[in-house]
Amino acid sequence: MTVLVPELVIDQTGVHRDLAIVIDDASGLIDAVMGAAHAPADAIYLRRTALAPGFVNAHSHAFQRDLRGKVERVSKLAPEDSFWTWREAMYAGAGAIDPDRIRDVARRCFSQMRNAGFTAVGEFHYVHHQPDGTPYGNPNVLSEAVCEAAEEVGIRIVLLLTAYERGGFDRPAAEGQRRFCDPSIDVYLERLIALQEWAADRPLVTVGAAPHSVRAVSEGWLTRIAEHCADHDLVLHVHADEQPREIEEALDATGLRPVELIERAGALSAHTTIVHGTWCDEHEIALLAAARASVCACPTTEANLGDGYLPARALLQAGVSVCIGSDSNTIIDPLVEVRELEAIARRSAVRRNVLVREGDDGPTGYVLDAGWSAGARALGLPQPRIETDAPADLIALDLDHEEIAGVADADLAAAIVFAGSSALVTRSWIRGR
Ligand SMILES: [Zn+2]
Repeated sequence: MTVLVPELVIDQTGVHRDLAIVIDDASGLIDAVMGAAHAPADAIYLRRTALAPGFVNAHSHAFQRDLRGKVERVSKLAPEDSFWTWREAMYAGAGAIDPDRIRDVARRCFSQMRNAGFTAVGEFHYVHHQPDGTPYGNPNVLSEAVCEAAEEVGIRIVLLLTAYERGGFDRPAAEGQRRFCDPSIDVYLERLIALQEWAADRPLVTVGAAPHSVRAVSEGWLTRIAEHCADHDLVLHVHADEQPREIEEALDATGLRPVELIERAGALSAHTTIVHGTWCDEHEIALLAAARASVCACPTTEANLGDGYLPARALLQAGVSVCIGSDSNTIIDPLVEVRELEAIARRSAVRRNVLVREGDDGPTGYVLDAGWSAGARALGLPQPRIETDAPADLIALDLDHEEIAGVADADLAAAIVFAGSSALVTRSWIRGR
């Protein structure tokens, strides 16, 4: 057993003093939460420190970390730079990947996540094969390398194995997309099953399915993947409604918007997470709410790519669970990400304190839950809580850091959300380690 005695505990229930957290080192779970006065002599005292559940990063493409800086110049190919010109640069980055390189960049990326206060990551991994599309001897070698990098860093990972079929509704894969593609849905599902088996005895690794988007995956593939997820109790993540052009293409080809198409394919359920949802319309939001599906917003990436503003207030009002992701990993900071949810809502509504749930006195509880419970729900992980039997996935925050020094207990959670950054995080424990 390891016993931690912080000055404060901050979780969904508020700020608490004088608690000791007992961690079962074997299971990596919290064994008990008790009064600090009962802590044993060998307890670890975390002075001037608040302990909180670690944040969940529900959407990442680790390799994109190495595009930092490179993509911030006007493209020679297209002076009207956009998501689509950025994507060409990203494909060049993806083209340079091999097993050693992806392990290296994933290790650096996950290490920064852990230091920033993320204790779990949903890695939406889509670079699978050799550059010409030929599988490696082990067709999951790149996914396994990403998971092993997470294990080395000690961060919890849900490897969202991406299915990629084609370049667009009526287009085969372009050259830069070949290594993302499997030749058939059966080949993809075989790889998914093999990865589930590979991950089975790895305590930090679980697996989910990720049809890339409605432009990259046909309705038939979506249906088969949804059936597999239902049979195997896996989460299903899919990009949708990030860009207006994607919606126009879906409407042209099928008469349906992306979330409508996902729903028709039988792939919208409580296990589904729509990544972005930036341009969701009212009907799509109603479908998400009816299915109890989640939305993963990636505010700093959506800002960087010029995607638009999440309809955050409408999603809250409809009761759709919204979590966060660092996506392109340009910025890795859970507090910046969750703060942006409220900031987007304020700029859109031209008022303050918008994302306020019934019974809450402000948006702090809602936005923290986007980083905690909504993220865990989207990834199929246990709820991040500081209570008996919850995973010991914890972060330590420095109460003397100049961002929050001198703030009263009653204001501390809001100060962390509205004035804090990952610089507050001094240590983390994942499965108690
Ligand atoms: Zn993404």
